[in-house]
Amino acid sequence: MQDNSLKDIKGLGPKKIQCLDRLNIQNLEDLVYFLPKKYNDKRFPQYISSLKEGEISFIKTIVTRTVYTGKILIVKAEDKTGKIDLVFFNSKYLASYFKSGEEYTFYGRVTRGKNKNLQMVQPDFDEASDSFPGIEPVYRLSRGLTQKDIRKFERQALEIYSKDEWLSEDIVSLNKLCDINYALKNIHFPTDEHAFKISRFRVIFEELFIFQMGLGIIKKQGLERTAGAKFKGDVSPFLSSLSFKLTPGQEKAFKEIENDLEEDTAMNRLLQGDVGSGKTIIAQLCCYKAYISGFQSAVMTPTEILAKQHYETFTKDFSSFGIKVGLLCSSMKQKEKKEVIDALEKGEIDILVGTHAIIQEGVNFKNLGLVVTDEQHRFGVKQRNSLSVKGKGANILVMTATPIPRTLAVIVYGDMDSSVIKTMPVGRLPIITQDFSSNSRRTVYSKVKEEVMKGHQAYVVAPLIEESEALDILSAEEIYEDLKGKFARVGLLHGAMKQEEKDQVMAEFVSGNIDVLVSTVVVEVGVNVPNATVMVIENCERFGLAQLHQLRGRVGRGKDQSYCYLVHKNLNEISKSRCDILCQSTDGFEIAEEDLKLRGPGDFFGTKQHGLPELKNADLINHYGLLQKIKPQVDEILKKDPDLSMHEGIRGKVMDMFGKDGQITL
Ligand code: ADP
Ligand code: MG
Repeated sequence: MQDNSLKDIKGLGPKKIQCLDRLNIQNLEDLVYFLPKKYNDKRFPQYISSLKEGEISFIKTIVTRTVYTGKILIVKAEDKTGKIDLVFFNSKYLASYFKSGEEYTFYGRVTRGKNKNLQMVQPDFDEASDSFPGIEPVYRLSRGLTQKDIRKFERQALEIYSKDEWLSEDIVSLNKLCDINYALKNIHFPTDEHAFKISRFRVIFEELFIFQMGLGIIKKQGLERTAGAKFKGDVSPFLSSLSFKLTPGQEKAFKEIENDLEEDTAMNRLLQGDVGSGKTIIAQLCCYKAYISGFQSAVMTPTEILAKQHYETFTKDFSSFGIKVGLLCSSMKQKEKKEVIDALEKGEIDILVGTHAIIQEGVNFKNLGLVVTDEQHRFGVKQRNSLSVKGKGANILVMTATPIPRTLAVIVYGDMDSSVIKTMPVGRLPIITQDFSSNSRRTVYSKVKEEVMKGHQAYVVAPLIEESEALDILSAEEIYEDLKGKFARVGLLHGAMKQEEKDQVMAEFVSGNIDVLVSTVVVEVGVNVPNATVMVIENCERFGLAQLHQLRGRVGRGKDQSYCYLVHKNLNEISKSRCDILCQSTDGFEIAEEDLKLRGPGDFFGTKQHGLPELKNADLINHYGLLQKIKPQVDEILKKDPDLSMHEGIRGKVMDMFGKDGQITL
């Protein structure tokens, strides 16, 4: 085994080691797998006469003179075909670097200056020599590190590093992969385009292969249905205590879930349903069924506000059945927590609602049979697993209102069965969405006033808490101050407030004592106040599409007509498209697909937020086809060797990618 440390790299002192560490580079392998983010093509210089405005170009010129005006240095240069100005800001020292009559190379975007001269602003530069740098890698940097440093380190590392082929001959030949050491060399310092292409393919293939292998293992472990808590009994007593009937969508979803619950094996199911489709009641039905079967349930939420709201709903709805509901949140006093934890262990609590506090050490259930996680997109695969460990064989229900494009859903939730609520409760009117420029704020708030006069309530969401000098954005505090003059009962809610204050404000809003609630995105998920009929989103251009849809979902939860007003200040192309999509559609699935189109394939759209490892080189959208091609190859290996004990090389790589967060244990 080769030494993987960085100790043989010259020029790498403790300072630079720290810089590399900030880029997550701790050893030789990390270094050679730290790939360029782009390349400068410095193979052949162009003549000035052939330069095109807007293009990035490489030139070799003689400097004729340097002019210093204010803070700007202009280097005048020419070749035999023309003249060009090289413009540098705040670089006084450069004035003495460039010598008239000497030759230099420059690399940068060609533009035209006010004086109509061709120019490059802040180009890369070097003294000219007979040979040119060729294709030059450009890396992501951290403070204290230059491109030259990192190129030097990479060159040395590639000399020392060598990796034995870790993929089987079959895989290599089937996928026409080039040698890995060749690939790494040519990705950093490509000799030509073909070499670069096959090298890049090899590296992307590797990453997707390991990714798919890890997912395969997670899936297998998830689908290996362990013996599980078996529920029985009729939920109709609880159903008939409700003030409404289930929608057909809810009925269908619950039937699928109930079937699972009555099996001997543990359930592992995802419930998708758009905002407002009524997922909470499904969770309650499951908890009820757990209770009558003699099991405890855990309900986990991403925010404390949502946990408390569920706690109240559950307590109210279940009190007549003698079902005890408990609450556990990080902000509770130690003593209160202890009481809950003790009661839980003794089996005196039937349903525990809480934030991630309920998966922490020291929280033990007497007889856990069901785990529900609400608004799952905030929980990773890892947390999902750790909760199921608390109750081996517990039935798992994951609920999400953030529809994710199908491609990603298959990847993230591939280990689960899935149900979808497709219908909304009857009598819901589609939310009317309109966008306004900030000049029309007056109109917006007069519309808010109309609704408040009718006895309804409104949310006003702002991106920032406090006023910021750097950004021209209205903060929640400023809006709050402003609206206090316009409305009688205004509340303010944001993440930096003390938990008690937040609870107080939220409670007042729920009870109707606050008409207009100004808040940050703390109300984003789950919050349910059906009397609220207006959602104003200030500086909506600062929010993503999925987030805007979630925010809008706070209204339209009752039978009255609801409104969403998007207020914008500086719309660019993308934020304009977002507004248009929201104004036209209220369908979360449609919006998710549009969102993906807008973000484009370059965006790795948050695999991390779903608890999966981040891909460094591959891209799930662009390389989806390749991922599909890899899948059967991976499955084949896992079928014969489920824990990869016969594939040491692959196993090591999989653990590197997935092992850190305990997503996989092999
Ligand atoms: P979400 O799916 O966004 O979590 P909730 O479970 O919070 O939605 O439900 C939204 C609102 O719809 C709640 O006020 C709930 O009481 C109500 N609701 C749920 N199901 C029905 C139904 N079948 N008929 C009428 N109202 C319902
Ligand atoms: Mg909900």
